[in-house]
Order: sequence, then structure tokens, then C-alpha cells
Amino acid sequence: MQPKSVIIILLSLISLTFIALLAFHQGVYKKHVVNLNDPALIEIVTDASQGGKTRAEMRIDKQGLHLTCQIKAQYQWPFCEIQIKFSARDANGRFLLDQGIDLSNYTQLYMDLAFQGEQADRVRLYIRNFNPLYSNLEKDENSFKLNEVEFSANEFNGGMLLPIKDFNVPSWWLHPRKLPIKQHGVELTNVPLISFASGSEVEEGEITLSIKQMYFRYNLISQQNILFFIIALWLSAAFITLFMMLKNYRLRLYASNKVQKKQKQILKTLKLEKSEMEQLAHRDPLTGLHNRAGISKYLIEYEDKAQKKGAAFSLIFIDIDFFKTINDQYGHNVGDDILVAFSLCIERNIREQDKLARWGGEEFILLSINTDITEAQYLAEKLRNLIAKQSFIKKIKVTASLGVAQMEIGETTDSFFERADNALYQAKSNGRNQVCVAIKP
Ligand code: GH3
Ligand code: MG
Ligand code: MG
Repeated sequence: MQPKSVIIILLSLISLTFIALLAFHQGVYKKHVVNLNDPALIEIVTDASQGGKTRAEMRIDKQGLHLTCQIKAQYQWPFCEIQIKFSARDANGRFLLDQGIDLSNYTQLYMDLAFQGEQADRVRLYIRNFNPLYSNLEKDENSFKLNEVEFSANEFNGGMLLPIKDFNVPSWWLHPRKLPIKQHGVELTNVPLISFASGSEVEEGEITLSIKQMYFRYNLISQQNILFFIIALWLSAAFITLFMMLKNYRLRLYASNKVQKKQKQILKTLKLEKSEMEQLAHRDPLTGLHNRAGISKYLIEYEDKAQKKGAAFSLIFIDIDFFKTINDQYGHNVGDDILVAFSLCIERNIREQDKLARWGGEEFILLSINTDITEAQYLAEKLRNLIAKQSFIKKIKVTASLGVAQMEIGETTDSFFERADNALYQAKSNGRNQVCVAIKP
């Protein structure tokens, strides 16, 4: 990974964590703000509808919605109430009170209130819910379920949260309806309106309730989920980093294995080439026998054994007789073939310790360790005999002359070779096709 992208990823992780921590601290909420500014949505109801004398008026200003009531004790349970509508409206602007809004997810209600008056600041808040299971507006316009809470308004001065679970359904509403117990609870699934009303024990006189701000809210993401997100974020980042590192490591390993494999291959080729070069340098290309360079290591080894350990070391010079005539008679190619067949014939009839080399042209030498002059002479005679009997290519017969010498203790290589060469010369002079033994130095 590029260092630049690592920095970008790290910065993104830190920013996301910072935002998540902020959300953890502040909370992430879904809000439904109650509109307090539109007079069309607001309606006043008093006990005048029940024959009472209470009067009320409302005012909307920058501070919010204000309800001022002149409470009169004419009616048995005097009250004044302000309704705020949530429901949809038809084409004529009439409220469709059976089509409210679903507030069932909301868990808290925020209110900023103020109360003025010469009496207790008690107010009741109703959240009405329409449900066809128990609501029938044609028969009973009060058949909305009443979710009620009564509290001191000034407690909310400056703003405070009220848990929705603090609401309850009053028994006087439940009792006559005989609903199954399942339907007794607070219900906010379809709320067409909410209302603030004077307290249940309101007295005669003037009261003013100011509603400055009001909204429902619930937690969109819990703190637990935010913490989970932060931990998951860093864990997955760590996991991905580890994965990338592993992948990188494997790629590098693969690449280095490939290089190693290639190096091995090159080494193998070099070794092969080296052995081929050695072969070329140490072998005679026509017969495949050792050449002078190839035989030298045996010469050194055998000399050493002869001089230091007293081992018998003999040398046989072999030279084909009248080879020039063969070349002249049959051609150079036939001459070559005869050279190959000749060397094969000798190779097949010598022992492990006998090392044969092409010394040059139609001349060969045989180094033989642990072989004294008598044994060497016997071997030379055996070879001469074999060659003379053998028919080579195109039934051509050749003979060879051989000079044999045994290395003496303290003798130089030159002297040793010279003696063997002289013996060969002797064999040639004596008429060829014979073995001559070198005279001692
Ligand atoms: P001698 O019995 O005295 O050894 O007679 P010679 O003819 O064998 O010896 P000479 O030294 O006069 O000639 C050697 C010949 O061997 C001459 C040369 O053409 C031939 N010769 C040497 N190397 C090769 C070779 O690699 N291939 C062929 N075909 N002939 C070769
Ligand atoms: Mg010859
Ligand atoms: Mg010769």
C-alpha cells in the first residue's frame, strides 16, 4: 500500500471515530417538532361547551404560544384547553381526525413551558389517539384514547424532557368503554391532536400557560450501537491491514521464490555448460578418449603412487602402422572411422586402472598402475594381437607398434616418456606390428 493512501485511510478512520464519539456524547435523535406558530392548527376549548363560563384566548408571538384563561367556577369541573392539530386535512381544510401521525416510536417529549397565575401551576397534557377498535367519531367525538399526564408547568421552565412512559390512560375514560386489557395502555399510533388543559383542581381566576418549544424525540442510534460501531470500525481496519500485509508478504515470498527458482535454473545451466566445456577441453572430439589435458590428472596421480608408494607404473605407446597409406587408399573419412573403431577396440580390452588417451594423430598412450614391466609387456602383446586379428571398417586390417616402459623410482616424466617412445621407435625399426620394451635408464 502507498504511504499516501495509508495516511488517507488513517485520517478517515480518525474522522469517523471523532464523529462517532460526538454522536455518542450528543446522541443521535429523530425529532418531531410541534408547530406552535400556525393559528390554523390551534383551537381553544373551554367548559363553555358544557355550560360553564370560563373564557380563554390565545396569542402567538416570538416567545411561543400563550393561552390565557379566565376560569369561572360555574361548571362542576371548570377547564380551559388548547388543542394543537396533527391530523391531515381535506380539500376544504377540514381536519380528518381519524388520520393522525404515528408517534409510537418516540420515547421522550421535550417541553419549554411557563405558567402565570395566582394558583397552583398544574396542567394536563393529553395526547389523543384514533383507533377504529374503540374510536367512532360519528357516535362519540371523545372516543379518541386519552393518553394523559398532569404536572407542574414551571418544572418545564427552561426546557425539560418528559418520558412518554409517564403518560397513562385515565380510568374514567377506560371504565365506560370496557376495552380488553390489551388496549388499556398508552397508544400513540395515530395521533390527530394533542392538548394542554388546566389542572384537575383549577380554581377561579386568571391563568396563562406559555408553550415556548415542544418536540417529540427518540434515539435513532443507541450509545451501545455507536460504541459497537467504533470498535467494529477499528477491528475491521486492523483485520484488513493484517490481511493486506499477509497478501503483500505472500506476493513478495512468491516473487523471491520465483527469483530463487530462476537462479537455480541458471546455476544448473552454468554447471551443465561448465561440464560440457570441461568435456571439450579434456576429451578428444573424434574418439571421445582423454586428450593430453584429460589424461594429465591420471599421470600425476599414478606418478605420485609410483614415486611415493612404490607402486608399479607402466606406460605403453601405441602407433598405427602405415596409417598414411590407409588415408591415401580409402580417404580421410574412412581413416577417421578406423581411428574410432581402433580406440574402441583397445578400450574394451583394458582394465579399470588402465587409462587410454589419444596422444595425437594415430598415436595413443596407455597408463597402467599396479602393473610392472612384465605385466605391461603381456598387456601390450595382447592388444597388438587383438588389433592385428581385427577387421575394421570395410574389412580393412591394420597393425600397430607398441613401446613399453616402467617408471623407475626417482625417474622424471620426460625420461620415462622418452624411454617408452624410444621403445616404440625400436618396434617400428624392427619391422612394425610388434612390442618393444624400453631399456632401463
Ligand atoms: P608409420 O608406420 O611409420 O607410423 O607410418 P604412418 O603412415 O602411420 O606415420 P606417418 O607419421 O607418416 O603418418 C601419420 C598419418 O596419420 C598422417 C596423417 O594423415 C594421419 N592422421 C593423423 N591424424 C589423423 C586423423 O585425425 N584422421 C585421419 N584420417 N588421419 C590422420
Ligand atoms: Mg603410424
Ligand atoms: Mg605416428
